[in-house]
Parts: sequence; C-alpha cells; structure tokens
Amino acid sequence: MQVRRLAADVVVIGAGVVGTGIARELSRYDVRVVLVEKRADVAFGTTKANTALVHAGYDADPGTLKARLNVRGNALYPKVCAELGVAYKNTGSLVVALAEEQTIHLHELLERGGTNGVPGLEVIPRERVLAMEPGVNPNVVAALWAPTGGITSPWELAIAYAENAVANGVELLLSSPVIGIDMRGDRAVSVRCPGVVIDTKFVVNAAGIWADDIERMVDRDDFEITPRRGEYYLFDKRVGHMVSRPLFPVPSQSTKGIVVAPTVDGNLIAGPNALLVGGKGDLATTAAGLAEVIEGARRLVPGLPVRESITNFAGLRAVAVPVGDFVIGPSPGVPNFVNAAGIQSPGLTAAPAIAEAVRDILADAGLALAEKPDFNPVRERPTRFAELGRDEQSALIEKDPLWGHIICRCETVTEAEIVEALHRPAPCTTLDGVKFRTRAGAGRCQGGFCGPRVVDIIHRELGIPVEQVTKKGGGSYILSGPSKAPLLEQAACRCLADAGCNAASDDGPDDGRIYGRAGAEDVGEDVGRGDHGDLGEQDVCRIETREREEVGGHAHGRV
Ligand SMILES: Cc1cc2nc3c(=O)[nH]c(=O)nc-3n(C[C@H](O)[C@H](O)[C@H](O)COP(=O)(O)OP(=O)(O)OC[C@H]3O[C@@H](n4cnc5c(N)ncnc54)[C@H](O)[C@@H]3O)c2cc1C
Repeated sequence: MQVRRLAADVVVIGAGVVGTGIARELSRYDVRVVLVEKRADVAFGTTKANTALVHAGYDADPGTLKARLNVRGNALYPKVCAELGVAYKNTGSLVVALAEEQTIHLHELLERGGTNGVPGLEVIPRERVLAMEPGVNPNVVAALWAPTGGITSPWELAIAYAENAVANGVELLLSSPVIGIDMRGDRAVSVRCPGVVIDTKFVVNAAGIWADDIERMVDRDDFEITPRRGEYYLFDKRVGHMVSRPLFPVPSQSTKGIVVAPTVDGNLIAGPNALLVGGKGDLATTAAGLAEVIEGARRLVPGLPVRESITNFAGLRAVAVPVGDFVIGPSPGVPNFVNAAGIQSPGLTAAPAIAEAVRDILADAGLALAEKPDFNPVRERPTRFAELGRDEQSALIEKDPLWGHIICRCETVTEAEIVEALHRPAPCTTLDGVKFRTRAGAGRCQGGFCGPRVVDIIHRELGIPVEQVTKKGGGSYILSGPSKAPLLEQAACRCLADAGCNAASDDGPDDGRIYGRAGAEDVGEDVGRGDHGDLGEQDVCRIETREREEVGGHAHGRV
C-alpha cells in the first residue's frame, strides 16, 4: 500500500464532540491541525448516544475538572451554538424530590452547586414544581431549580465543530484508525493510520472509550477506561409536550439517575440506566435494562406511554479508573502527548471548556499560537424545510423543485436538504450521516420509508454504488445485491416487449442483475436502479413503477 506522509503541528485523535471541539478551537490559530477519526463520520461514538443535556454543574464534586469545566462549558454554550448554528435551548432543569427525606439531598446539591459557581439555584416548593411541570409525579415534595440547565443536539454540535474547523483549515481524515504512534525519546513524533503517516509536534488523545488503548501506544498506562452503558427510550413527538425541561430524580453515588427530558427536536427521551459492561462494543439494549429505564422514568412522569416509544438505544460512558474524573493534561513522561480522556458525563456540556483547556495546555507545552486574522467562527445552520413558514417554503420550491420533494415524511425532510448535506465541508457518505445532519430517518418510522430513497440519493450524488452504501460505515451495508429477480425479469420482459424490443435477456455479465437488449443495442445496466442506458424515458418509468408496485420499494432487499 502506498503511504501518504503528512506534516502537522497537532494531530487530534477522535472526532467526537471533544476532538472536534478541540480541532475547531485550534483552527483559530496559525497551526496545522489534522483530526483523525476511525469511523466513517464524526460523532459516531458516544457523542451520538447520550441524553443531550447541558448540565448546570451542581452535580460534580467541587474542585474536580468535571465541576470546573461543566460550569464553564455551560456558560459557553449559548455563544458556541449561536456561532455554529446548532440547536440549543436554555430550558432550566429540575431535580425532583418525591419524599420528604429526599429534600436533604436537594439542599446538598444546592450547596455543592453554589461552591461550583452555578448561578441561580434554588429549592422550590411542590406547588411551583407542579405549575412548571403539570405531568410530574403528584407526590412531588420539592425540587432543585437550575435555571442554567438546557438541552442541545450533540451530533449537530460535533458536525458543526468539524465543518467550521475544516472551513478554517483543519484536515479531517475519516475512516482512519490510528494504529500506532512513533516515539523519539520521550516525544511522540508521528501518528500512523493505514496508508497515512502524520509527522507531528503534538498529539491530543480524544478517543473516548478507546483513549486508554491510544495512551498505551506511547507506552503509558495511567488509566483504564471501563465502559458503563446507559440505555434509553426515545418517544414520538406526539408526547414531546409532556415535559418542558429535564427532570432528574435525586442522584445516587454513581449516577445522576434516570431522566425524562424534552429533546431540541421535539421528542421526549428517558434514560439512562448505568451498567458496567465488559466490552467497548457492547451497545446492546436489554429487556431488563429498558424495564429499569421505564420504571425510573414513570416515577418522575407516571403518565409516560411506552407505546409512543419510537426507538431504543444505548451509549457507553468512558469511566477512567482509578481517576474517576476527566483526565486532561500531558501524559506523565510524554510531554507532547495530551490526554482529553475519561470524558464521561458531563462531557458534552464541558466540551467547549475542554477545548479551551487543551489549547492552554498545548500553549504551555510550547505550541506557538498566533491568531489567524481570517478565522471565521461562523458556520451557517443548514436550512431545515420543516422549520420554515409557508411563504419561505414556497420561495425555496420556486427556486429549486428539490425543495418540494419530501423524502422523509415523518420529519418533512426534502431532497434538497439531503443533497446539501452530502456536499458540506465535513464529508457525509452514510445513511446515519444523512440522518444526523437532516433528520431523514430520525422520525416515527425510523427510516423505513425514506431509507431506500436516501440510499439512491447518496448513490446519485456521490457516485457510490448502491450496494456499497452503508448505514454507518464499515460493513454496515444496506443492500446485499439485486433481489426479487424473477419479478423484475418479468417486468422488464413485458416492458421491453411493449416497447417493441427483443425480450430482456441474460446477455449481460453474470452478476445477478437484469440486463436487456433493445434490438441490437445494449440498453444499459440494471433496469431497476435508475441507470437506464438507451431505454426511452417512458419504458424506464414503466419498469420502475411496476417494480415499486410488485416488489414494494426499490427492488434491492432489506433496508
Ligand atoms: C449514557 C450517557 C449519557 C450522557 N449524557 C450526557 C448529558 O446529558 N450531558 C453531558 O454533558 N454529557 C453526557 N454524557 C457524556 C458525553 O456524551 C460524553 O462525555 C461525550 O460524548 C464524549 O465525547 P468524546 O468526543 O470524548 O467521545 P466520543 O464521542 O466517543 O468520540 C471519540 C472518538 O474517537 C474515535 N476513536 C477511537 N479510537 C480511535 C482510533 N484508534 N483512531 C481514530 N479514532 C478513534 C471514536 O471512533 C470516536 O468517534 C453522557 C454519556 C453517556 C454514555
């Protein structure tokens, strides 16, 4: 394999919300930054599977990095999200005491929050809680009101960070797992991925639950990441109104407990539970885990209807043992290798502050940071058709009919939005990438209707063969090959005969597709695919229509 050699000042490993935030922060300065991600897209790790809360900061122990960076991150959110066009709502949040003896914990949190510097905290009485949240358990006794709490979209933030970083000169390498780091003396000097070696002055380790594996590449073993899984229910928008702000139970030693919260997209989320798991790939949801989630959620909101659930998922907290706190700083003995590891909750909230902290650590370690005069902090929010008024929608359709072509019915996502998402600065090549950028497939039917159409658009726009289009990179192919061949063959034969052609033949290559001949002329490739060679427009339409009627969709197996 030919090896490409790149030169950088800083290589950031991991494109979750932490790594993308750091890359974007560094892109303000005149330094060469390469952001390396092993998956096919940014935000495909823990960043895509969490509660999406912007925590106020009363929870972490005073003096910890978690406490300091939570409060600072919370304060940075409104500005960062405004600059980057990311959804954020300052809803405030409530910790709900359901028995008199729990109120003591509310006062502990109030005090701890005060020490951490959280503004505006107060313990409020039952009547006020019920007025704010009529759906809450009527046994509520009191609650801790945290007016700086909020909700956001974690993947939107990571995608926006990455796009803004790339627009400001950062090089983003996707599908590039770091497989080794070369050392010279006590310094990391190059980062190796398959086919690429990046010579660098500094390395930042933002590899989430794999951060301990990355640290071992520089011969250090200062912490171990033990993943702790959290499972979720996501509910339909129909019940999105049931709560207006995140509702927490009184926390335990190890977790903030099972939360019920609105999402920025209008759904309701419930979770997570907390279970130590053996494997870093163990993202399974379990019947027992989900039962625990629903039981916990119903303690807070008794009327929560399980039948309105649209999906379940799980995320893995990167718990650094024995540290227990975020691990941020140079690895002992390797001064140019900086960890941003063990970033469990409240890592999403802290991400903007972690970016600042890592920038300062790199500067202290000798990275020259001259501000770039042409740094542009703004990334425009992509247009969301569903968020527009009728007049604005009509004006867009007038300009380009693709704005009138609804691909995702549940979330009213147009073809124009999907096409736009596929051509933005940070590459998007997968079904999940499209979902996270546009919400096509994120609604009630979870992509059952729009999935095949999105596959087709990815194929058309990026030239990726349909069988190569994946859900989320790697081997997650959607289609295994042409199917229902006999039906298609009949359809093609009938249609070609109607058109006065010889019957469709199997003259073509033996690849399982249907090939036809129009007289002596080749009629092109796969008739069911929309790549129709010399067939007349009408003939093609008939084949496609028949295919849809008889085969029920786009002819190519399961989605
Ligand atoms: C159940 C749960 C609920 C949570 N709720 C909240 C919340 O409400 N609010 C909050 O503030 N925080 C919350 N968090 C925490 C928050 O989600 C995380 O702190 C944050 O997403 C961590 O981001 P990250 O970038 O460090 O990790 P990740 O998003 O996992 O990113 C790490 C990246 O590194 C990549 N990588 C790994 N190894 C390699 C390699 N060898 N080469 C290249 N790339 C590599 C991975 O593919 C991944 O994309 C929650 C976490 C969990 C699990």
